[in-house]
Amino acid sequence: FAKETGKCNYRFYSSEMNDKIVNKANMEIKLRHAVKNNELGVFYQLQVDIQTGAVTGVEALARWEQSKYDFVSPDDFIPLAEETSLIVPIDEFVLKNACMQNKTWQDMGYPPVHVSVNISAHQFQYQNIIETIGCILDKTGMDPKWLVVEITESAALKDFDSTVKVINRLMEKGVQISLDDFGTGYSSLYYLKQLPINMLKIDKSFVAGITRDPKEENIINALIMLAHSMGIKVVAEGVETQEQLEFLRDKGCDIAQGFLFKKPMPPKDVEYLIKAGKL
Ligand code: C2E
Ligand code: MG
Ligand code: MG
Ligand code: MG
Repeated sequence: FAKETGKCNYRFYSSEMNDKIVNKANMEIKLRHAVKNNELGVFYQLQVDIQTGAVTGVEALARWEQSKYDFVSPDDFIPLAEETSLIVPIDEFVLKNACMQNKTWQDMGYPPVHVSVNISAHQFQYQNIIETIGCILDKTGMDPKWLVVEITESAALKDFDSTVKVINRLMEKGVQISLDDFGTGYSSLYYLKQLPINMLKIDKSFVAGITRDPKEENIINALIMLAHSMGIKVVAEGVETQEQLEFLRDKGCDIAQGFLFKKPMPPKDVEYLIKAGKL
């Protein structure tokens, strides 16, 4: 540790540092165990058409219930999973479940909706994500057009050329691509122009600025116009207030997702909303 910090930077050992390392190591052991023993779950959050209120899709989100009612936040375990490659089986698990679930809902005769699945950068770069997705689609029998793969902007930019290749191959299969957390990475219009995507998700940090920060409102407005000019649909994430919703509706945003509608829920709680097709 001391070596890493260089000659002039002294860093002292502290028990707090030690605690962190031990906690992380413990968490990794527990996560590995959870993955192996199928202890992870999938929650779904509704996405609704901003103009009509119709349910257009659901986002599948990994859940880890470490003990009864004690959920570990994905913001804590996903980064750890990414560091340790546990993200590979996790993403596959969520993908498989999400496709199976969506196909089941469609087979029940519910109005068809998209299912969005988050795929980490790791998968895009090192894993055979195209084969994995193809295999899961074959096995579940879900029509690829209902699958939306969400990749974050920073993930897409890690290895831009290979990302574009992977996206193109997924699109050839009929899968849709959504660019997640837009605005939090090194958003460059140059890249946006070259990235073949169907949807763009405006990050919740921007949405939070609505009615609070005119600059952020202007950015959102411009982003919606820009995306539309490229034929890309806009999803606003983290919509929490009626004012935010009205602003977004007024600006022509297509789809909204957030606590104002519903929090992510277990499949049995989402089912009746999918069946109804609206809130
Ligand atoms: P994300 O993909 O941007 O997902 C949206 C996150 O925002 C979810 O957090 C959701 O619960 C939260 N959210 C939705 N509406 C609101 C709102 O109105 N207000 C606020 N404050 N938050 C809202 P969650 O489920 O904790 O997931 C966090 C992140 O973890 C996700 O962000 C995604 O990057 C990652 N993640 C979750 N599941 C998976 C997975 O299966 N695979 C991968 N690779 N990443 C995942
Ligand atoms: Mg997402
Ligand atoms: Mg997001
Ligand atoms: Mg996010």
